[in-house]
Amino acid sequence: MAEKKNSADEQMPDKDEAIKIFEPALSPLFDTFREKINRLRQNPPQLLHIEGGSAELRTAFAYHYAGLFFCENPKRPENKGDFLADPCLRCSECYKVAARMHPDFIVFDSREGNIDVDSMRDLKKISTEAPRYARKRLVLLLETQKLSAVSGNAILKLLEEPSPHNHYVFTMSQREMVLPTLLSRGFVMTLPWKDSIQELTETEREWEDILIKFFQNGTGLLDKTSAKGAVDSELAKTICGILQKNFAHAMAGRKNYLLASLFCSLSFSKLFEANERVALCYEMLNLMVNPTYCIEALLTELYVFMKTAG
Ligand SMILES: [Zn+2]
Repeated sequence: MAEKKNSADEQMPDKDEAIKIFEPALSPLFDTFREKINRLRQNPPQLLHIEGGSAELRTAFAYHYAGLFFCENPKRPENKGDFLADPCLRCSECYKVAARMHPDFIVFDSREGNIDVDSMRDLKKISTEAPRYARKRLVLLLETQKLSAVSGNAILKLLEEPSPHNHYVFTMSQREMVLPTLLSRGFVMTLPWKDSIQELTETEREWEDILIKFFQNGTGLLDKTSAKGAVDSELAKTICGILQKNFAHAMAGRKNYLLASLFCSLSFSKLFEANERVALCYEMLNLMVNPTYCIEALLTELYVFMKTAG
């Protein structure tokens, strides 16, 4: 849980190293987006969603927002419009945000497996307390597309009982991946998309082909997974990522991706259910359940699901 990072006996990371997290957002390419963020922080919404771009860029923007939230002296870049301001990256507040050591900036990262039910219980407790240092508290949930329904509902409960000092920012690959009830409670900011085909690694490309073949005619999977150690936890998570990306394409009706086009026969709620199943698989992997078992069980279940849902 994020709190442990605040403990005094933990070494503060090097400042120059820490503030690198802001860098991707500071490109002049994103001036208009930072302008938007700056306008938002002056009257912050209860919940801001950041979608699009890459995970790194979304994270950078979430920290940028947090930086502006807490910075003692935001700076106005020269020769830019009146509405652009950036965190100064010099004051102790900026540093504490970057190092995740600000007592009122609470970070959960689903990639670290820490948006589980226990963390949400801790968050509930923290959110009833007054901020420790600043006037407001900011809670960041990174990559919420991996949120399980249980954690999602726990967050929703918090949002339904708003408190004037708690603000939230969530990042996600794209809005279709998040519980509609959560999405509708926030303001969505969309960063420019990357070409998702070009982003694929060789392993992703290979597995996308295997998945296409498997969902088309039910073959070719066991050949790939049955050898001992053929699927490790990292590969299993890559496969989950491919599935989620293609569920999202299918939800958005993008049929030009072959794997996604196979999922287009599923209704929106079925796709949502399938996505839930993948979120559960992530949880199992984080609990060190055998990755081969996780993936075979997941894919078999999805296969049956597709054969019976249509
Ligand atoms: Zn600052």
